[in-house]
Amino acid sequence: MASAYKQTRGIDPDFEAQLLDAIDKWIARELRPVVMEHDHADKWPTETVDQMVALGLFGATIGEDYGGLGLPAVTYAKIVARISSYWMAPTGIFNSHLIMALAIEKFGTPAQKAKWLPKMARGEIRGGLALTEPDAGTDLQAIRTTARREGDEYVINGTKTWISNGIKGHAFALLVKTNPEASPRYQGMSMFIADKGHEGFKTGKKIEKLGYKAIDSGELIFEDCRLPADQLIGGEEGQGFFQATGGLELGRINVAARGVGLAEGALRLATDYAQVRKTFGKPIAEHQAIQLKLGEMVTRARAARLLTLDAAEAYDRGERVDMEAGMAKYFASEAAVKNAEEAMRIFGGYSYSKEYEIERYYRDALLMCIGEGTNEMQRMIIAKQWVKRNPV
Ligand SMILES: Cc1cc2nc3c(=O)[nH]c(=O)nc-3n(C[C@H](O)[C@H](O)[C@H](O)COP(=O)(O)OP(=O)(O)OC[C@H]3O[C@@H](n4cnc5c(N)ncnc54)[C@H](O)[C@@H]3O)c2cc1C
Repeated sequence: MASAYKQTRGIDPDFEAQLLDAIDKWIARELRPVVMEHDHADKWPTETVDQMVALGLFGATIGEDYGGLGLPAVTYAKIVARISSYWMAPTGIFNSHLIMALAIEKFGTPAQKAKWLPKMARGEIRGGLALTEPDAGTDLQAIRTTARREGDEYVINGTKTWISNGIKGHAFALLVKTNPEASPRYQGMSMFIADKGHEGFKTGKKIEKLGYKAIDSGELIFEDCRLPADQLIGGEEGQGFFQATGGLELGRINVAARGVGLAEGALRLATDYAQVRKTFGKPIAEHQAIQLKLGEMVTRARAARLLTLDAAEAYDRGERVDMEAGMAKYFASEAAVKNAEEAMRIFGGYSYSKEYEIERYYRDALLMCIGEGTNEMQRMIIAKQWVKRNPV
C-alpha cells in the first residue's frame, strides 16, 4: 500500500541511543580495522557494504511502510557524522542511494513506490543519483541527455559522469531532457528510474580520484537505451528539475554531517598526537602555538555540529530549510578542510606519511566543498534566502 512521503519525523530517545550504540560498536569492531587497506588500494568494501545493509542503513530514511527505518534527519545526521569521523567514504554509498529513494518516495507513483522502495530498503538494489554530465554540473539545466517517447517506452541518449555508485550500483535517478527546446529550460526536464540490464545502458570508466577512495565514481552511457514509460518518476514529464532539487536539502544535511565527522575525526587524531609527541622536553600540546590550533579546531567542530543539527531539526519539523541546510553544508565542509589542514600541521612530517591516517582526512575533506552544490553556490543560496526573509 503506497503512502505519502512524511518529512515531519521524530524518534524514541531510547531507540536512537540503541541505534547509535550499535553503530559505535560496528565502527570499533568492523570498520576501523579495514579502513586503511581499502582506502589505499581504492578497493570496493564488499563486507562493509553487507554490514551496512544488515544495520539497516540502506533503508535509514526510507519510510517504515516500505521496510525502511524511517529515521528523522537528526538521527541520520548523527549516524553519518559518527561513521565519517573514522571513514567518510562509506557514507557516500548509502547517501546517494537514499537520495534516489527520497525522489521516488516523494514524487513517485504508488506503483513505483511499491515496486522499488522495499528492495532499496533491504539493500537488494543499490541506487544512485545521475545528474551531472561532462558539460553540466552546477548548471543542471544545461544537461544534454535526452529521452524521446516511443509508444510505451522512452529512448535515452547521453552520458552522465562522476556518478557515485556508478560502477557498483544497480539503478539511478536519471535526470534528462524530455523537451530540449523548452523555455524556461527546467520545464523540459524529467527524471527516470534507470536500472542496469537494459540494452544500450553501459557503464563507462571508473574515475581515479584524489580521495573518497573505495567508493566508485563512474560514467553512465546511454545509447538508444529503451526504458519502460512507467519508469518516468511521477508519470508526468517536466517535473525532473524539481524532483532533482527536492532531495537537495536532505543531501546537504548529509554532506554537512560528513563534514562534522571529518572535522571531529581530524581533531581527535590531532588531540591524541599532540599529547604524546614531545619537543623541547614537553608534549607539543603544551606549546602555545599548538594550543591555538586545537582551540580553534574544537570550536569549529562544535559549531559545525550545532549548525548541522539545527538544520536537521528544522527539516524534521517539516520546514523549508534551504538556508539552514546551506549554512550547515558550507560551514561544516569548510571546517572539515580547515581542521584536516591544521591536524596535518600538528602531525608535522608524519602527516605526509601514508602510515598515518590524517592524510586521508585531508584528501577526503576537500570533496565536501564540491558535492551537493559547491560552496560558492551555497553562499549565494544563503544570501538570496536571507534577503527574501528580511524584506525592507
Ligand atoms: C567525488 C565526486 C562524486 C560526485 N558524485 C555525484 C553523483 O553521485 N551524482 C551526480 O550527479 N554528480 C556527482 N558529482 C558531481 C558534482 O555534483 C559536481 O562536480 C558539482 O555539482 C560541480 O559541478 P562541476 O564539477 O561541473 O563544476 P562547474 O559547475 O563547472 O563549476 C566550476 C566552478 O564554477 C563555480 N560556479 C559555477 N557556476 C557559478 C555561478 N553561477 N556563480 C558563481 N560560481 C559558479 C563553481 O562553484 C565551481 O567553483 C560528484 C563529484 C565528485 C567530485
